[in-house]
This record gives sequence, C-alpha cells and structure tokens, in this order.
Amino acid sequence: MRGRVPQTVPTITPLVRAYDHLLLDLDGCLWVGGTPTRDAPLALQTLREAGKRVAFVTNDTRSSAEEYVRKLWSLGFRASLEEVVTVGGALQHHLSERHGMRRASAYVVGTPAIVRHVSDAGLRVVNGMAEAPHAEVVVAAGHDRLVFEELKVATQALLAGADFIAAGRDRTFPMPDGMWPGTGALVAALEYASGRRATTVGKPEPEIFATALDRLGAGRALVVGDRLDVDLAGAHAAGLDGAIVLSGATSRAEAETAGADGGPRPVAIAADLAELVLGEAPPLAPLPPAAPPQPPDLPPAGYGRAAG
Ligand SMILES: [Mg+2]
Repeated sequence: MRGRVPQTVPTITPLVRAYDHLLLDLDGCLWVGGTPTRDAPLALQTLREAGKRVAFVTNDTRSSAEEYVRKLWSLGFRASLEEVVTVGGALQHHLSERHGMRRASAYVVGTPAIVRHVSDAGLRVVNGMAEAPHAEVVVAAGHDRLVFEELKVATQALLAGADFIAAGRDRTFPMPDGMWPGTGALVAALEYASGRRATTVGKPEPEIFATALDRLGAGRALVVGDRLDVDLAGAHAAGLDGAIVLSGATSRAEAETAGADGGPRPVAIAADLAELVLGEAPPLAPLPPAAPPQPPDLPPAGYGRAAG
C-alpha cells in the first residue's frame, strides 16, 4: 500500500458485502492516467481480505494484459494475469472465431498491443502494404498516435466492403489534464466516412463480462465503473448489477438521473472506489479561495480556436 498504513483493518460496506465478485473498470475507477484514485489500493486489498474475487475489465486499447498487470503492481494494486480481461483479448477471440481460420487480411487502426491480438487471432495484418485499402477486415481501436493516413486507408477498405470490428464506443476517457477522445470518437469518424456500422466487442457488449465471470466461477457479481453508457449499460446487458464511481467520466447529476429514460439504474453511486468499498466519505475539500482578480482584457470565450 502506498503512502498510507491503516490503523485498523477496514471493513467493507454492506452493499459490497452482498456480492461474491467485483468486476472493476480501470480508467477512471482504479486510476486516472498514472495515478490511483484516492485509496483505491486500500479498497482492493480490503476486498481481497474480505474474500471477494475480482476481475479487471477494461475497454482501454492501449496496452496488453501483461502491461496492465505491471501497471497495477506499479501503482500498488496486487493483480494476476488471469484477473485482467481486456477488450484486446475480446477482439482476439471474436476475430479468431470469425476470420482466423481463413487467415483474412486485416487493416488495424490501433496500438502495437492490438496489432498483436489481431495477428494472434490468425489474421494477416496488411498495414503498410499495397493491399491495405482492400483488406478484408478493418479493426478499429483508439490510440494516441492516430494519423490521417489511418483514417484514409480504413475508410477505403470499408467502402470496398471490409468487415468492420471495433473495440468499443467510449466517447472519452479521463486523463489528468481532462478528457481524451476514446475509441468511440475514432469509430464515429470511420462510420461517418464510410456509411458503415461497426460491430463492437468491448463494454457495453456483454461478452467481455461473460469472459470475466467464466474465470471467476459461480457467484453474485457487481460491475464497478465510471461510465453510464459503457460500464452500467454493459452490466445491464450482461444481467449484472452496476455501481458508478464519480472519479472518471460521469458527474453526480448524470449518475443520479440515470434510468430516468427507462435505461438501467446504478445500484450505488460513490465518489470513488474507496467510498464504495470502505464507506469512507472523501475528505472535505478546502473552500475555494475568493475569486481571483481577472485581468481586464481577457479574450472572449472561443477566441483563438479554428472556425468550424
Ligand atoms: Mg472507465
């Protein structure tokens, strides 16, 4: 545990005690960027001491399961490879069943980790080759080094009839400097350009939770995540309860009004994983200082942004 030694062994909340398994989201739940959310390592350790089994279920496409295990340990979370269920693994399973046997050609918009999953599924990755615009399959997964050429080649392959598989529809994910565009933003661009609709395999599709439950065995499971349209909707699709933490992409007002349109409602809303598991309220934030004096010549909102 980093930076904090509890004086007594914490107990878990009655809500969490009612479940055998917790399916935990990573981005915005266990961490934001490279920093754990408040007391998240303590919350995870307490879950383990209470005999709960956990799986880490992530739509993040930027790393492999092995890399997530290393990151978990580096941030103070004990974790094993079997506990990490990534959308990359779900993509690999999907592609291998549909396209692996015939060694279909694939153009991949994604990180090296995703390229490896596509290749391990038995597909022939044709990125950088002359046949790329005629690939039989386009795989789309958000990544930080996206360039126009990738959108162009993927669009051409899709217009030529390629099968279209995407890692998810997450609009954004939280980072220390604010929200970053997620896989869903990339998928939307390709769908708009091609007029095609992607098949997605990550949350909120239920299969990724089924994979996690397969590994955990029988028991009652609670999904915990920071997105209503991904984590909560995925829990609902898989027939599981979902709790929302406010340490990522969702505001309290959004979480509290979830379900008003007939969609799923969270069984709990907590400031963060620690509050959900340990019941601790986060420390009161100091009152903000009085509004600082503003320079008189601030440019109008939107000044300096490109038009359109
Ligand atoms: Mg998340």
